[in-house]
Amino acid sequence: MTTGITSRTAERFAPFGTTIFSEMTALANTHRAVNLSQGFPDFDGPDLGKLGAIEAMNNARNQYAPMPGTPELRHAIAGWAARVNKIDCNPDREITVTSGCTEAIAATMLGLLNPGDEVVVFEPYYDSYRACLAMAGAVPRFVTMHQTPEGFGYKPEELRAAFTSSTRAVLINTPHNPTGTVFSDSQLREISALCIEHDAIAISDEVYERLVYDDYTHQSIATQPGMRERSIVLSSSGKSFSLTGWKIGWAIAPEELTRGIRSAHQFLTFSVATPLQLGVAKLLENGEQEINSLLEHYKRTRSMLAEALQELGFELTLPQGSYFILADHRRVTDRLGLKTDVDLCRWLPSHAGVAAIPPSAFYSNPENGSHLIRFAFCKQTATIEEAIKRLRSALG
Ligand code: GLN
Repeated sequence: MTTGITSRTAERFAPFGTTIFSEMTALANTHRAVNLSQGFPDFDGPDLGKLGAIEAMNNARNQYAPMPGTPELRHAIAGWAARVNKIDCNPDREITVTSGCTEAIAATMLGLLNPGDEVVVFEPYYDSYRACLAMAGAVPRFVTMHQTPEGFGYKPEELRAAFTSSTRAVLINTPHNPTGTVFSDSQLREISALCIEHDAIAISDEVYERLVYDDYTHQSIATQPGMRERSIVLSSSGKSFSLTGWKIGWAIAPEELTRGIRSAHQFLTFSVATPLQLGVAKLLENGEQEINSLLEHYKRTRSMLAEALQELGFELTLPQGSYFILADHRRVTDRLGLKTDVDLCRWLPSHAGVAAIPPSAFYSNPENGSHLIRFAFCKQTATIEEAIKRLRSALG
């Protein structure tokens, strides 16, 4: 489902084409469909952050930030990490502010991996992981998260088999996009034991760290015994504060690993928007109330959408975290005479006026994800209601 890449594009990007997020959002716009594809809120972020950024602009904080990030934001991240991730870190030597978590992923891989290094990656995976590994010349070794009646999980024997003498890192994402899985303490312990056994580092994308439901709790792999010194914790303000367009992210890592991350970051972006960093600092320090009301809202939109999808024949388990629902579409596609996720996601915007993501884009072997479909519920109640109405009339 990729558009043509001209022969002038570097070979390393040839397998990746245009990201599925841009493609599906464009399709949604063409058909004026309700866009439940790309994960971004259709409501505004909190005033507290915006006022902080405006104040910074009015106070002439408009020149380059220091390469690792403004001191204010690095201090705020250290406080946040102590509360949210249970990690104590030094704001000067262990935190790097990046252009969203996506740049933190790129800087980590480019700064710490050598060509030929193997990296264990759980699939389905966020699409930028593979492209960044390709830029670094690293080799992914995939471990599939299988769908079970309780949710998505990996098989311990498959995880163990993915580690080899060339393994340099494991890449985890908890809460996980697109499955909504929150990795458990015992899973993190198991992954940590393999990291230590193979002297590998853990690259942990925790951007959905605050979007956790029911009785699940977010845990960072860096808190496992022996892991702090070999973990890189990546996050951002995009999901917790509905500011995906600000692109303020960060990497927390021990000094030795931070040196590698900064080596790449200084030549990728050097530094990121100063006033926005200062706005995010305010939110990290004083934004708990905003997060609580966001969570209440997402709990509602999650159940509304999940119930409606189940009624229409999609099979799913409620996501434990994140703002995505991953569902098996086969009963629906059978009725419609369609087959794959790509067929359904091309059909939906024009026939139902709703857009979603075909998860085969998140698998090394696309066939493994072709029975699934991903819907985002990070939208206003009225948007979710409209999507449900449209899906019912097209599929009901
Ligand atoms: N993380 C978001 C998603 O998974 C969007 C990412 C993007 O647009 N690059 O939908």
